[in-house]
Amino acid sequence: MPLFGKGRKGPDQPTTPPILEDVPAQDFILKLSYSAKSSESVRIKTSPSAVARLARMLDGYSQGEPELVEPYPLEFTQAAPFIARMPAAAEWLTYHRKRLPMTRHALVVLESVDAIDLAFDTFVGCLLDGELDTSGYPDYNAIVGGVASHWDEITGDMIVRAVVGWGGKGARGDTDRNAARILAGLFGNIQADQHALGVVAVERPVAGTKATGVVCGHCGFNSGHERAFYCPKCGMRMARG
Ligand SMILES: [Zn+2]
Repeated sequence: MPLFGKGRKGPDQPTTPPILEDVPAQDFILKLSYSAKSSESVRIKTSPSAVARLARMLDGYSQGEPELVEPYPLEFTQAAPFIARMPAAAEWLTYHRKRLPMTRHALVVLESVDAIDLAFDTFVGCLLDGELDTSGYPDYNAIVGGVASHWDEITGDMIVRAVVGWGGKGARGDTDRNAARILAGLFGNIQADQHALGVVAVERPVAGTKATGVVCGHCGFNSGHERAFYCPKCGMRMARG
């Protein structure tokens, strides 16, 4: 139903003014920019302490206690930090509402640019450089991040890489260089892990469709990989039908 009726026009009413192409206007703009760097991946022999050891890989760089973020549970398959999109935003907030403000900031940066994918990645991170404001949120010049890992679908080894991110309303001139330095340090820590087996080129796990994938009996992750023996998300051996 139209908001305004056509209305009858009397003979003494003024005619419609011509449509202007340009009217005085006030402009508004917000420029947001997020950046991230990811290192090569290191294969690490799985052990019961594997996930606990991830936090140790931030030693020497963490400014505060690293927080562990496990992959999204199955009921949050659409979660993403894009505030206007539903149900992505609602799922994202539900899963991350109790985390540290710093961790939520890091996840917004790293997930927005696709540097981590919590469909299967486990992330351990914190503030790495810069300062937090009084509410606990990083300043625009802060560098955040840590390590991300998933399990190799063939061998069940842990595949770990360093990730750093920064940005918001601008960045400092030396942020990119600082981020590269921190990334190199974290990568060194990963390689120094006692169970590290060396640098590997591993493709990102691909989520399969219900019809084709091998579904993990433990966490429900649907792997699109034909030869998936281990679940990339929870590391358990895939039950095969
Ligand atoms: Zn699983």
